[in-house]
Amino acid sequence: MITRFAPSPTGPLHLGHAFSAMVAHDMARNGGTFLLRIEDIDRSRARSHWEQAIFDDLAWLGLGWPRPVIRQSERLPAYRAALARLRDMGLTYACTCTRRDIAEAASAPQEGATHGPDGLIYPGACKHAGHGDSGAAIRLHMDRALTLTGDIAYRETAGSHRTVTRSAQEMIDGIGDIVLARRDMGTSYHLSVTVDDAAQGVTCVTRGADLADATPIHVCLQRLLGLSSPAYHHHRLIRDDAGKRLAKRDDARAIAAYRAEGVSPADLRRLVGLSPPGP
Ligand code: GLU
Ligand code: ZN
Repeated sequence: MITRFAPSPTGPLHLGHAFSAMVAHDMARNGGTFLLRIEDIDRSRARSHWEQAIFDDLAWLGLGWPRPVIRQSERLPAYRAALARLRDMGLTYACTCTRRDIAEAASAPQEGATHGPDGLIYPGACKHAGHGDSGAAIRLHMDRALTLTGDIAYRETAGSHRTVTRSAQEMIDGIGDIVLARRDMGTSYHLSVTVDDAAQGVTCVTRGADLADATPIHVCLQRLLGLSSPAYHHHRLIRDDAGKRLAKRDDARAIAAYRAEGVSPADLRRLVGLSPPGP
């Protein structure tokens, strides 16, 4: 089995990241492979000192991973190729809407704004507009895509193993025409993660339950691109004392802060409810 931890170098790793990395590393402990991937497509937020901090924190936790580490910022040609393939299949369109255009269209009385994994579900103004690609975001024509794939199903291995299914109608109503390529990046989280998990031969994607809503998107893209689907392990989230999900700005929960206080990696495992690592 091959699994991975795929942080974005946009801030300090906190307790929730440590948990995610340790869960993935533990899963690979009997002959599997634990990969580290740097998800730095957002050049406006990624910083090399945060990348270095990721390496330092994970090494301090006692985790090891194969080198060289893949950086998404070096993989743009692969994302462009996947996007071109979807475009050639007639499954994409260019969208020139601003955030504000989308918010206004979604707040029109007949629309009844609904939210998906990426925020407001795109109301579709540009769908048949025939805009040129340059300077525009590229969206997935979700209903057309689903006529090719049918319902979306994947294997969930957190808790009792089961198959999770999203019907084509649920995908259209609850997710909609997601962005495949942002105008400033030429790709998106969804496209990059799908292309890279396949390219790295990942057989089990380990990540937090907060990303579970994005998984049917990735499985849909795998089907469209002819890629095999990994299993998914969406682990529980580590919350702060008030029960809120930890965010990057929760510096108090930064691994670096625990390190500075003299907390040991074994203490951290206990703190997040993981048993000591096996021999
Ligand atoms: N890069 C994403 C993050 O930092 C995680 C991506 C994934 O695990 O699929 O939240
Ligand atoms: Zn648009």
